[in-house]
Amino acid sequence: MKAIYIDAPGKVSIREVPMPERKKGEVLLKLLYGGICGSDLGSYRGTFAYFDYPRIPGHELSAEILECDENNAYGLKKGMIVTCNPYFNCGRCYSCRRGLVNACTDNQTLGCQRDGAFSEYFVIPEERVYDGKGADPRLLAAVEPYCISWHGVSRADVKPGDRVLIVGAGTIGVLAAAAAKKKGARVYSADIMQGKLDMAKAMGVCDGTILNDGPEHFMEQVMELTDGDGFDAAIEAVGLPSTFQNCIDAACFGGRVVLIGVGKKNLDFNFTLIQKKELNIFGSRNSLERDFRAVIDMLGRGETPLDRVITHTYPARDAAKAFEDLSNDRGNMLKVVLDLSGF
Ligand SMILES: [Zn+2]
Ligand SMILES: [Zn+2]
Repeated sequence: MKAIYIDAPGKVSIREVPMPERKKGEVLLKLLYGGICGSDLGSYRGTFAYFDYPRIPGHELSAEILECDENNAYGLKKGMIVTCNPYFNCGRCYSCRRGLVNACTDNQTLGCQRDGAFSEYFVIPEERVYDGKGADPRLLAAVEPYCISWHGVSRADVKPGDRVLIVGAGTIGVLAAAAAKKKGARVYSADIMQGKLDMAKAMGVCDGTILNDGPEHFMEQVMELTDGDGFDAAIEAVGLPSTFQNCIDAACFGGRVVLIGVGKKNLDFNFTLIQKKELNIFGSRNSLERDFRAVIDMLGRGETPLDRVITHTYPARDAAKAFEDLSNDRGNMLKVVLDLSGF
């Protein structure tokens, strides 16, 4: 079978590899679509914290079940169109023992700490496979990033009427805005690129936007939009020191800050601001089965913006071009999916 590899930063190839073998308790999948995550792009650019070369990327997927155990405990059947939970956890560490499987101390996400799913076929334990409940397989491939955002917004405990700022209008930021709106908040998106803000606005995921063209102008807009109060919750969806600082600055006294973005750089800042504002600062890592179930149900009810968030689709054979184009994005690309039946 064929598989997509990131061989080194900037280098993508398609290789012939052996078919995976299914064991009892596992499911053999034929891949349909795979979404390129910001982390896959970071691996391509050489900027992502958790990646060793060469490796098969990809953890956002939809697939058809080719083989599974009969009468398995999860109701999985041959021919079912599914998506998967890609965060492998050890089951033994203190996090896992407390049900925090998303923050397993030995977490291994597909396509990051272990080979991913950008291939023709893939084998995965049955408990990681979720019925797509009839959803369009192209949209189903973008369920996982929505779960990341949904989980982050849940960490911020967003309630109806809250004023929420999402810093970053890439895929995760746009989906976080959609999630916060779904929870009844008044939502603003901030980004350095006006084009991204225009897209977020056009998708209807936010009530307003903030062009983040400098810390002073940023804060002027924050204060104007919140009558001088600051935001009840500020959610970081970029992974840079400056955008984390933006969230600390934009949150109201007693507000919540959630960090979804992943980065490599250090921040030197006035930490007493956290004490002075009595901020609640949370990390948000991966997502949980309940997030997947909630997002799949919302997708089934037509309550997600995933049809608008997927802006580009490439056949698998053009994977190198897909990564290159996404890396050179001039502002009009959000989620890019690969048609994995098109090798
Ligand atoms: Zn991802
Ligand atoms: Zn663990």
